[in-house]
Amino acid sequence: MRPWNPPAPVKVAARFPIRFAVALALACTIAALAAVPSGAASHEHGDALGDSQGRLDLAGASFTQDGPTLTITIRTAHPIPAGARPGGSRGTLCVNVAWGSPDVVRRRLCVIGRGGAWLLHDNVISPTSGRITARHTRHRIVRQAGSRLTISAAPALLGLPIGLVHFNVRSTWNRGAACAATPPPDDGTATGAASTEGCPDALPDRGTFSARVWRAVAAGCTPGRGQVSNGPRGRKVVALTFDDGPSTYTPGILRTLSSLHARATFFQIGQQIPGQGAIERQILAAGNAIGNHTWSHASVAGGGSFARGQLSRTSSQIISTTGGYHPCVFRPPYGATSGALVSVSGALGMTSVIWDVDTNDWQLPGTAAVISRAVGGTRPGSIVLMHDGGGPRAGTAAAVGPIVRQLRAKGYSFVTVPELLGLGTRWRLSKS
Ligand code: ZN
Repeated sequence: MRPWNPPAPVKVAARFPIRFAVALALACTIAALAAVPSGAASHEHGDALGDSQGRLDLAGASFTQDGPTLTITIRTAHPIPAGARPGGSRGTLCVNVAWGSPDVVRRRLCVIGRGGAWLLHDNVISPTSGRITARHTRHRIVRQAGSRLTISAAPALLGLPIGLVHFNVRSTWNRGAACAATPPPDDGTATGAASTEGCPDALPDRGTFSARVWRAVAAGCTPGRGQVSNGPRGRKVVALTFDDGPSTYTPGILRTLSSLHARATFFQIGQQIPGQGAIERQILAAGNAIGNHTWSHASVAGGGSFARGQLSRTSSQIISTTGGYHPCVFRPPYGATSGALVSVSGALGMTSVIWDVDTNDWQLPGTAAVISRAVGGTRPGSIVLMHDGGGPRAGTAAAVGPIVRQLRAKGYSFVTVPELLGLGTRWRLSKS
């Protein structure tokens, strides 16, 4: 156990000096600790200016989660010039993170200015020895604008758990008259969080501030319209799609996708959804998308009120079973489409989605054929048609892993259809 401060003598609220407590009361956004139904939460803390003589005098910090992205913002009293960037012997600027016990640091995120770029040293700290046991160098997640530094990433990339975490920002500055005669610490070897070397600053001055890391669950996407057969061809991304579920094959396909960190889109038949809430939530929790595939797999190419009824009933079922996910993509059964149908789906906020790679897996050609058709047919921006329902789908289920591995080896990454089409995802933050 290696506390970053002497143990607090009394309860948490009393650990902070009065000045900080006032700032906390004024600035702390209650939303961060309450149940948050919307997709964003934030927590803001200030620090007195001039309490450090160094160039890295801290002015404030905030902790914000917007959907799946966590942003830690650190404000300094003065803009950080290129010559005063932390890292190496000039100084350090790190965020200590604890969970479980607020006194035990488990992660130390240090921003490093190197050349013209910023990077993050994500140090894994042993909770028993306090020593660094591993370090991951992350690029392109630290940004600076004047006196504002941000670290933006998915919580999992920073190694943070879902739940309550405790933060503490520390800086030291080792140059200039007031701070010069001090040994240069290195962010990688300093194990104690509180440095007495150089000109230090801390935020909060003592103890930690707390914030919650939420699980981001997709709540829907930006309404779409029109019809597409593929996405933009400029990037090596592909959207795998599965029609005619949910079915008994869906959980196995989900497990395969999750184990490979790949996402897909499930175009579902409305009448099969009641009672499948667990599968629906699992689909969304893993970052996949749900699309509308009519209520009874009817041909709705004639448009009009029949199509409208089939589509709106299915969207309502998806919304009620998932607890609020509004689909923004629709796939016409049999690919049977028309201008009249596209206007019906558009009026309901959904882009009609065909495909440009057909595995014809419903004809049961065998796993090898499904794999070779999916992998061989895919181009940048492709939409691949497969089925997780409507018949025996073991062959398709067995093909999913090889398809993902082979396309990934060719440089493809996997996106949902809403992502492929640039239809932004709306998020809900969940406590667990
Ligand atoms: Zn179908």
